[in-house]
Amino acid sequence: MTANNGASGKCSAVGTLFHNLCLSLPPQIRTMDLVLNVADSYVLSPYVYPASWPEDGALRQILSLLVLTNLGAAVLYLGLGVTNYFLIFDHKLMKHPQFLENQVRREIKYAMSSLPLISIPTVALFFAEVRGFSKLYDNVDDSPLGWPGLLLSMISFLLFTDMCIYWIHRILHHKLIYKLFHKPHHLWKIPSPFASHAFHPVDGFMQGLPYHIYPFLFPLHKVLYLALYVFVNIWTISIHDGDYRVPDALTGAINGSAHHTDHHLFFDYNYGQYFTLWDRLGGSYRHPSALLGKGPHDLIRKLQAEGKLGEGRVTAEGKVNGVARKEE
Ligand SMILES: [Zn+2]
Ligand SMILES: [Zn+2]
Repeated sequence: MTANNGASGKCSAVGTLFHNLCLSLPPQIRTMDLVLNVADSYVLSPYVYPASWPEDGALRQILSLLVLTNLGAAVLYLGLGVTNYFLIFDHKLMKHPQFLENQVRREIKYAMSSLPLISIPTVALFFAEVRGFSKLYDNVDDSPLGWPGLLLSMISFLLFTDMCIYWIHRILHHKLIYKLFHKPHHLWKIPSPFASHAFHPVDGFMQGLPYHIYPFLFPLHKVLYLALYVFVNIWTISIHDGDYRVPDALTGAINGSAHHTDHHLFFDYNYGQYFTLWDRLGGSYRHPSALLGKGPHDLIRKLQAEGKLGEGRVTAEGKVNGVARKEE
């Protein structure tokens, strides 16, 4: 997508076309992306870059986006992950026979090594956004439908990304692809919140792609986009946190942690992200075993009652006592 290879004459022609395209955009669409703008104003311009390097220089924008994307991903993943781990995640799950030795450390290590690689193609899309090729807008007045338009954006964003992720996830489970890209995420049979971003880089980028594609297809307020982005990260962590509570009335419609735990355990079910809609349409819905009294907690209780787990403490690293066994 970034054209810094090939013949120089061709490059300059593409560069001129790109420049003209940017100039022909209305001013509000040419404005810098919010995050980049704030970073430039408060940190990058006064303290990092030389004054001679213009804020809208392409290379400078790409460099800034790379740093900001990596920082943002690490802060969101670790910040939200640690918060969830200590406040919500049920540490009893670490006694489960399929919870791996040192699993939490391994999940974090895997995620933190993948995120920088995922950021490379992601930055290409962010750069296109910053350069005004998306339908992101700055003011509510720019919304085709005003405030109701923002509400519609939220609903359509969730429905669109839920549908896309369902199908991308199903394709990633195809036997020709699964071992290449998606298998690492299924190493965690009983996930912790830190499994949420522990993907092979290709897998992570593919499953994140719908979030980045949406604003190129549909109008979306920039602040709402940021808020949705944070929400998406919270949700991704929450379906891996072993907190199976969902209001009774929504159990059949919302794809919560109980549903996604069954995906990790039984593979071919509950591919969805927020809703069960596509799993129902695609014939892959499975009512969560945890809600039928046959979930991970039930097994732990059974093994403890049979004296097979012992009363061993749960260590911070998830070292399992008793019948602990290592997968793969
Ligand atoms: Zn999967
Ligand atoms: Zn998962």
